Amino acid sequence: MSTTPAGHGLAAARAHLRADCSRCAALCCVGPAFARSADFALDKPAGQPCPNLGEDFRCRIHAELRDRGFPGCVVFDCFGAGQQIVQVTFRGADRRGAPDLAAGMYAALPVMRQLHELLWHLAEALTLPAAAPLHGEVRRLHARTEAASRGGPEELAALDVAGYRAEAGELLHRVSELVRGRLPRRAGARRGADLIGARLRGAKLRGASLRGAYLIGADLRDADLRDADLLGADLRGSDLRGADLTGALFVTRPQLEAARGDTATRGVAGGTPFR
Ligand code: SF4
Repeated sequence: MSTTPAGHGLAAARAHLRADCSRCAALCCVGPAFARSADFALDKPAGQPCPNLGEDFRCRIHAELRDRGFPGCVVFDCFGAGQQIVQVTFRGADRRGAPDLAAGMYAALPVMRQLHELLWHLAEALTLPAAAPLHGEVRRLHARTEAASRGGPEELAALDVAGYRAEAGELLHRVSELVRGRLPRRAGARRGADLIGARLRGAKLRGASLRGAYLIGADLRDADLRDADLLGADLRGSDLRGADLTGALFVTRPQLEAARGDTATRGVAGGTPFR
């Protein structure tokens, strides 16, 4: 597998970072504990299969998740971590009837998910021409992260994943500054800002850093979010109808799934189509 996504295109670089449930073993429906909430309609202890999970490892209510009170399942994305754990880390082993093996897979899931999410963002950075001066650094970190993701169960358990996150976060920040710095004018930074429920309809946020901002339930209708940095921004329940996200940086499918949009929302073709 290539460790240098530049030149292969973003889609190719991310091909193995897309969840393929047919090659997983429903790790996300069994491993984590869930508390009854607006996201998940029942309590479920860690390591116990969700009662909606079929014998074939498929969700029996997949088409009705939102209506049945499980929107948290809709917005979850493992970035291909599940199939990586089953097929690579544990070499295709069957967790059923093997509690120790299963426990190892569940423990590896959050680690692998974080590594794959970092790879997702680093791959995007390598497609940004304005970030070319940093592509060497990005490529090296991408290669190291990918190598880490191929480690065995013990190596994953011992991995300093927080260190990888910190390193990638700093590098992606510099990438973002380079890319947004080319704009003749950009909106002020609102990094990590509390914008819960904010009325930002039609707001001029082009090129703004909204990294890690809390935009839960924010009204962003018709907002100009072109070239904005949305890494880690919490868009749950935000209203993006008519908003323009063309060139927005580091937007993921889970972020878009958690927001509301419409056919007038622009610039999300690489993410998720809004219903
Ligand atoms: S509701 Fe479906 S997708 Fe969600 S955890 Fe249960 S089986 Fe998995």
